[in-house]
Amino acid sequence: MPKVKFVDLGQQYFSHRSEILNKFDELSLGGQYVLSDELTVFEQNFSHYCGTPYSIGVANGSDALLLSMLALGVGPGDEVITAPNSFIATAWSIARTGATIVFCDVDQSMNLDPEQLPNKITERTKAIIPVHLTGRVADMNAILQIAKLYDLIVLEDAAQAVGASYHGQRAGSFGHAAAFSLHPLKNLHVHGDGGVITTSDKALYEKLLQFRNHGLSDRDTCVFWGMNSRLDSIHAGIANIKLPHLDAMNSRFRQFAKQYSDRLSPYVCVPEHTENELPVYHRYMIRHEQRNALQDYLATVGIETKINYQVPLHLQPAAAELGYSYGDFPVAEQLAQTILSLPLNYEMTSDQIEYVSEHVIRFFSQ
Ligand SMILES: *Cc1c(COP(=O)(O)O)cnc(C)c1O
Repeated sequence: MPKVKFVDLGQQYFSHRSEILNKFDELSLGGQYVLSDELTVFEQNFSHYCGTPYSIGVANGSDALLLSMLALGVGPGDEVITAPNSFIATAWSIARTGATIVFCDVDQSMNLDPEQLPNKITERTKAIIPVHLTGRVADMNAILQIAKLYDLIVLEDAAQAVGASYHGQRAGSFGHAAAFSLHPLKNLHVHGDGGVITTSDKALYEKLLQFRNHGLSDRDTCVFWGMNSRLDSIHAGIANIKLPHLDAMNSRFRQFAKQYSDRLSPYVCVPEHTENELPVYHRYMIRHEQRNALQDYLATVGIETKINYQVPLHLQPAAAELGYSYGDFPVAEQLAQTILSLPLNYEMTSDQIEYVSEHVIRFFSQ
């Protein structure tokens, strides 16, 4: 057993146990297990939280990306630009639409580099997917300006950024649509898979309601071939219980992150953000050339760490057909070799943050 766990889901369940059990009882007795009032209430709550008029609960964050693109008309012959240092789903959801994935390197913020973005745009470019990695919103002013200039769709991959803001505006409210994940490792999570799409486009919202439900406009009429990708009532119920606690959780993450950074900034590269940003630290990610040795050392003293992510998307076996090679995206490649995510979860204590910090410092003082 590690002394400091990376996450502690059981502990988080414990804090909401009776509320969740009561909700489970209520929904189970009610019998509306899919497309229920509970889901509608969650969608309203989530929209209100993000500052967007519409939300659509779907089966997972990956489907949130895929369905958004399909509903926005992305398909074969199109190119979609995204960052090479994201989770696999950002890439496969593009591939699944039939469009071509085009990677653009990130800058030191770890998010899409707006300066390089125009070089990747061709007459086939249809959309840009900025990823708000680790819960820090990408440079949306610059990205939206470029998208407007070239008439491109912007789909935010906000899977890691629920609650994060940029110039006072919440993640998920910048693009034509945004995809969120309710996966157990995300800041707002359910007890299984779940996802949400936000948008301010009413027509897109109505199309997505049908898309996630087989393309049905009513019980007997299928207006186009859709998918079965809905957020279950039980999960919507759990999300409704947790959403009111999200801001407190995110601010505790920021507090812990500050504690880490205050201690560690003389030794490693710590995460930064501008005054106009409020990140949510889905991950607290440090960088150092001796990352591997540091990770091994921390494991020997019971500290669990992770690398998000070890292999950039353009170097995955699945991406071979795209023809990229090592050296194409130097910043993303450098990040993959130097990043390390330290334990950060709501159930931790500041003593544990101190314990981890002390061992990081001890490693560099050897
Ligand atoms: C988690 C995640 C996804 C996918 O979400 P799932 O709910 O696991 O399908 C997509 N993009 C990013 C950046 C993620 O972190």
